[in-house]
Amino acid sequence: MSPILPVAQRGEEILKLKAAQVADIEFNSEWLQQLAAAMYATMSERSGVGIAAPQVYISKRLIIVASRPNPRYPDAPEMDAVVMVNPEILDFSQETCFGEEGCLSVPNERGQVERAQVVKVRYQTLKGKVVETVYEGFPARIVQHEVDHLDGILFVERI
Ligand code: ZN
Repeated sequence: MSPILPVAQRGEEILKLKAAQVADIEFNSEWLQQLAAAMYATMSERSGVGIAAPQVYISKRLIIVASRPNPRYPDAPEMDAVVMVNPEILDFSQETCFGEEGCLSVPNERGQVERAQVVKVRYQTLKGKVVETVYEGFPARIVQHEVDHLDGILFVERI
C-alpha cells in the first residue's frame, strides 16, 4: 500500500516554485515509481482527478491526470490514469471553454476557468519513453491545471 501524503495548501511556498525537470537518472527508479504511486493514492483518497508533485512537497515535474466520475466531479469522463513526467504542452487550441475547477490545495473553493479546449502534450513515462498525445475537453483542462502547478500557478490566479 502506498502512503497517503500530506497536501500543500494555498499560500505555501512550494506551490509557488517552478518545479525542476525529472533527471535522466531518475527514470526507471524505485523512487520515481514510489512517488507516482503515493501521489496516485493521495489523489484517489481525496477524490481528485489530477495531482502534481509540488502538491505533495516534491518540486519535480511529474503529474497524474485521471478523469473519472467521483463525488467531487460527478460528470467527469472516465479515462485510465496517466502519469506524465516532464510534461510539456506543445499546442493550445484557439478554441477555449469555461469550466468549473477545484484543487486539492485550495479546499472549499471552486471557480470557472477559461482553458484551451484541446491541447497537444508531450511527456515521458516513468520509464523515460517519450509520448505525444492530444487531449480534449475535461482531460485537457486537467492537463493544463496540473502543468500550471509545475510553474507555480494555482487556478484561482486564472479567474
Ligand atoms: Zn490543483
